[in-house]
Amino acid sequence: MSAGAIDPAVVDELTEIVGQAHVLSDPEITASYSIDWTRRFAGSTPLVVRPADTAETAAAMGVLAAARIAVVPQGGNTGLVGGSVPLAGEAVLSMRRLDVCEAVDELASQVTVGAGVTLADAQIHAAAAGLSVGVDLAARESATIGGMVATNAGGINVLRYGAMRAQVVGIEAVLADGMIVSHLAGLEKDNTGYDLGSLLAGSEGTLGVITRVRLRLHPLQPERATALLAFETAQDAVAAAAALRRSVGSLHALEAVFDSAMALVSAHLGVDPPVGSLSSGSRNASGAAWLIAEAAARTDPSDELGTAVDEIADLLIDAAVALDPPARQRLWAFRENVTEAISAAGIPHKLDVTLPAARLAEFVDGVADVVRMADSDAQPLLFGHLGDGNVHVNVLGPGGAEPAEEVDDAVLRYVAELGGSISAEHGIGTAKLGQLHLNRTEAELAAFSAIKRALDPEGLLNPHVLLP
Ligand SMILES: Cc1cc2nc3c(=O)[nH]c(=O)nc-3n(C[C@H](O)[C@H](O)[C@H](O)COP(=O)(O)OP(=O)(O)OC[C@H]3O[C@@H](n4cnc5c(N)ncnc54)[C@H](O)[C@@H]3O)c2cc1C
Repeated sequence: MSAGAIDPAVVDELTEIVGQAHVLSDPEITASYSIDWTRRFAGSTPLVVRPADTAETAAAMGVLAAARIAVVPQGGNTGLVGGSVPLAGEAVLSMRRLDVCEAVDELASQVTVGAGVTLADAQIHAAAAGLSVGVDLAARESATIGGMVATNAGGINVLRYGAMRAQVVGIEAVLADGMIVSHLAGLEKDNTGYDLGSLLAGSEGTLGVITRVRLRLHPLQPERATALLAFETAQDAVAAAAALRRSVGSLHALEAVFDSAMALVSAHLGVDPPVGSLSSGSRNASGAAWLIAEAAARTDPSDELGTAVDEIADLLIDAAVALDPPARQRLWAFRENVTEAISAAGIPHKLDVTLPAARLAEFVDGVADVVRMADSDAQPLLFGHLGDGNVHVNVLGPGGAEPAEEVDDAVLRYVAELGGSISAEHGIGTAKLGQLHLNRTEAELAAFSAIKRALDPEGLLNPHVLLP
């Protein structure tokens, strides 16, 4: 759809609501709203609308709904499943200007923030009150709280605080017809009917546009100890992860990087990991494995982590422990830069899956063969949030090209066969629409569609996302 395809009267009405500077139609300017972070998903849009608050969002949605214009809500555009960009000529509703952090409610340990507040800004704001946001992830500088709720983002602290849905104690959103629903009192106990915050968490912009979120905050845990642990096999790493979860009460993060992903990120950083050895040029997904285990508490947790690491000595090749922030950051770099290193190497297919604990090692060992059966030239790269059973299977084709489409289906079928989830945290987006049936029954999908029809009868909100 070109800009000209939108009725000029609609553009005038939107301009009246948000101001001329915030209705964008020049393709050079709208281009960055139309391609995703991975560069795998690119479309075009006739219009980007940038409201400043809930009232403007509601008024803009009212105009768009009356004109029956489909809309993609967009936050930081760091989503990895093609759900945040207009792939079928939709208008984009950019929520970035809803960037107000309200005063922290220290009595309740809660804060209400605009949907466009970045995670990093919310973290800084909470920390000033001695509190922290329960979800953390590497895209923190760009990912927005609204987008994180819409995807039910996970990240590195889920094993301690749960995913984004667990942080939401109140929500305000605009429905497809422009109606505002607001429930922000943040009462910890509030059984007065359906929980719209919970419903919108993970809805990927298909049921409503989130405008404000009341977040549950947690005590800051300023004292940290971080260990990089090297293993010969995925099986040892999985066994060690389970042991650390059982024995370290202050465990804050438990991440994994497997062989070929470690080789890539080390080359990207220009530094070898301080422990373990890389099988250089390895095209195996697994083999050697590394865990990053971080303990966090109000008092120094290094003894607790050190004792637990001693207890798993028979599983380990070696361990490096860091306490001060720069040294800890050097260890974290091997995990936090994996996504970026892969993106620098090409355009991967990103398959983000969870396995039951009992099948995790089997999956890590078996998935490379599954990938190669579908595309013999493809290279699987494995890393993820092992403490949650969450493995990111990224697959690159030769020379960094995309691998064959068949790879996605083969890997996701393998996951389903082992009793896992085809989407641990990134969502379904447009990337996994064809596989949702692997995890959801016909009855569940019918219930999903009924909910969608009830809240968005015209199918205007992200119509090509999540629901087949
Ligand atoms: C380097 C990197 C690391 C990452 N690490 C993790 C990780 O560890 N864990 C994890 O879960 N994810 C991770 N992600 C994915 C991504 O950061 C999350 O999905 C994040 O929640 C997306 O937030 P966003 O504001 O960028 O949303 P967008 O990408 O803009 O949108 C994502 C989805 O939410 C919808 N949406 C956005 N804003 C709203 C709103 N206000 N109301 C309604 N719907 C909305 C969109 O329509 C789209 O469907 C990572 C991404 C990158 C690039």
